[in-house]
Amino acid sequence: MKKLKINDIVYINSGKDKGKTGKVLSVKSDKILVESINKMKKHIKPSKINPQGGIVDKELAIDISNVVVVCPSCNRPTRVGFKKTGENVSRICKRCKEVITYETARQSK
Ligand SMILES: [Zn+2]
Repeated sequence: MKKLKINDIVYINSGKDKGKTGKVLSVKSDKILVESINKMKKHIKPSKINPQGGIVDKELAIDISNVVVVCPSCNRPTRVGFKKTGENVSRICKRCKEVITYETARQSK
């Protein structure tokens, strides 16, 4: 059961983007990609898809410990708790106790 999931809104609490929020694009063990966070300019060689080449902004993964989930109910950065209901486990906001995501046992595998 992961604390962070794709499409979560997270608050950045460390690094050059401290204080910003963004949407989680991908989660890989202890690193995540967050939309518009930790962008780096990347030089692209000309290719068939992009004949001009050039420079694009690309997000780099950041450490999972540098972010906290923003609760969709109280709209504040929060710690995530887990609540078990039978077979199902929900992620809950530790501030307002509202469910952040509800999942079935099958999804959480
Ligand atoms: Zn909340």
